Amino acid sequence: MTDKYIVGVDLGGTKIATAVATKEGKVLNQLNIPTLAEKGPDVVISRIVNSIENLLSDLKIEKSQISSLCIGVPGHVNAEKGKVYKAPNLADWNNIPLKKILKTHFDTNIIIENDANAAALGEFKLGAGKGSSNMFFITISTGVGAGIILNNKLYHGSNNSAGEVGHMTFNPEGPRCGCGNTGCFEAYASGPAMAARAIGKLKKSAKLTAEAKILIDLVDGELDKIDAKTLSEAAKKGDKFSLEQIKENAYYIGIGLVNIINILDPELIVIGGGVSQIGEILFDEIRNAINKRCTMNVDSIAPVVPAQLGTDAGILGAISLGM
Ligand SMILES: [Zn+2]
Repeated sequence: MTDKYIVGVDLGGTKIATAVATKEGKVLNQLNIPTLAEKGPDVVISRIVNSIENLLSDLKIEKSQISSLCIGVPGHVNAEKGKVYKAPNLADWNNIPLKKILKTHFDTNIIIENDANAAALGEFKLGAGKGSSNMFFITISTGVGAGIILNNKLYHGSNNSAGEVGHMTFNPEGPRCGCGNTGCFEAYASGPAMAARAIGKLKKSAKLTAEAKILIDLVDGELDKIDAKTLSEAAKKGDKFSLEQIKENAYYIGIGLVNIINILDPELIVIGGGVSQIGEILFDEIRNAINKRCTMNVDSIAPVVPAQLGTDAGILGAISLGM
C-alpha cells in the first residue's frame, strides 16, 4: 500500500506556510513564502498551488498520495461549502470558492477552515487539549478569536460564525473596535488595546510616567513603541506600572471567559496568541478573575492553560483538520 500524507496550509496576511505531514501529524517538510496579499486572490491561490507542488516534488510524493489538503484562512469561511466569504487581511477575497478552485489542481479531500478554528483543533488533537472532549480555545494577539470543540468536534454554529467572541459586547460605551462597533471584548483584551490604555495613562500622568521608568527606557522614551511585548518585558524586570497594565488586561480576559463559562461550561480553556506569551503573571490574574466572578459553578471551574503549539499553531492546526 502506498503511504498517504496530509498537506496543511496556513494562509496568513503576510505569509503562506505549507507543510506535508504524516497521518499522525508529523511534519516532513515545510515551506514559508510571502503571501503578496495585495495582488489579489488569483495570485495568492497560485502561490499556494506552487508551494504545495514544490514541497511534493522535493519529497518525491505524488499528488495521488495526498489524503487531505487542509487550509486555515484568516476570515469568515463556510467550511461545508469550502468557500471564503471574506478575509479582511487579504485584498479582494469576497465569496471565493477556494475548495472548487483547488480541486482543479488536486483531486483529493479538501478542507477549508477559519484559522482560529483550525488552531483550536490543532491544540485539541496535538497540543494542550489532548484528552479533553469539550474545549474552548481563545487566541489573543492583535485581535481576539476563538474555536469551540464540543463532544470532540469543532462547533461552527448555524451560520458559520460561532466563536466570534472578540466581538461580544463588553461595554456599549467602550472604545471603538476594528469591526466598527464600540466596546467589543477585543477592544479591551487584545494586545493593542492593552498598549493603547497604557499609553493613554502615561500621556496624562507624570506620576505614572515616573513609576514606569523601566518601560519608558525600554522604548527609548517613545510611548508609541509600547506594545504587549514591551509591557511584558518591563513587568518581568520589575516595572510596577507595566505589571498593573497586564493585571488589568488579565482581568478583562477573565471577565470575557466567565461569560464563556456561563454559556458553555467547557472542560478546559486553552489560551494562545501573542498576549498569552506574557506567561504566568497573566494567567494567575485571569484565574483570579474567573474564580471571583464565576458564581454559578458549584462543582468545579474549567482549568485555564496556555496553548502548547506556539508559533506552529497555524500550520499544525491546518494539518489537524486532515487527521
Ligand atoms: Zn468588534
